Amino acid sequence: MINREDLGDGTHPLLFFLGDGDEKHPRANSLLVGEILIDAGITPSVMQEISKEHTINKILLSHWHEDHVSGVRCFPGAQVECHVLDKHPIISFNDMVELYGQEILHDDFLTYMKYYHLQESTIEKTFTGGEIKHASTGQQVKIIHAPGHSAGHSCFHVIPNDILFMIDTWVPGLGPWYGARDASISSYLETTRMLRSLDADRALLSHSNKILENDELNGLLDEIVRIIQDRNSRLMNGLKETMPMSLDAIRRKPVLPGDMASFEEPFNKSRTIAIRNHLAFLEETGKIISTPRGFLLT
Ligand SMILES: [Zn+2]
Repeated sequence: MINREDLGDGTHPLLFFLGDGDEKHPRANSLLVGEILIDAGITPSVMQEISKEHTINKILLSHWHEDHVSGVRCFPGAQVECHVLDKHPIISFNDMVELYGQEILHDDFLTYMKYYHLQESTIEKTFTGGEIKHASTGQQVKIIHAPGHSAGHSCFHVIPNDILFMIDTWVPGLGPWYGARDASISSYLETTRMLRSLDADRALLSHSNKILENDELNGLLDEIVRIIQDRNSRLMNGLKETMPMSLDAIRRKPVLPGDMASFEEPFNKSRTIAIRNHLAFLEETGKIISTPRGFLLT
């Protein structure tokens, strides 16, 4: 049975499909606007049901992460589009592995990817943000480039429903997440400001079944900024102006949720990349400097 919620206004249908009844990773939610499906990360059996019940001629992929793209193969007739910056890791498994920092094809990582029956997808068209897709129902899907989580991470504003599909701007359990090589904290912060300026009536996430009202959406965006600042402070705590601290020592600090020091492969690589992204941000903003022996406060 498909777990779905109708968020339409009676005239403009809007179906929110919840990943296999459990929207948490490794499944991701999809949104159907007319014949346009946003993301394809629900269980394949549910995707098959959707493809039988609905005519889907276009799939907009929010970003390259496996939990959002693995169901594309269930819609062979649909035109698949994604942001130009996220195209390569979707069409090339090697590029995906590279962005996850898995230079060596670690067995655990391969097992994890096999779980998704992941295939390299064909992308027929790319977007850069700002484009508007028109559905036959009279609705419009405005593509919003919202980088940070990935370089091409995109959100979708559905008009006239005034619903913003924020994808992985917030990942329950992790909060703001930037654990791949193309993620960026400065972009993440800019994205929160930009999404706030849209002032959407309601918002949805890929890994939550909650429908956020406008004040909750704004609260969440503020929380993202607060959490990133808090993690920056934790990372800088103990750094000195004269005695460099090595990356290994910095990695042992409790900075990320649940103290991911206990993270196992392949996720431990993502944790290290997230810490590196913080350090890159602190360097960019002049708070720390990198030396051959480690990191120093400025
Ligand atoms: Zn993601």
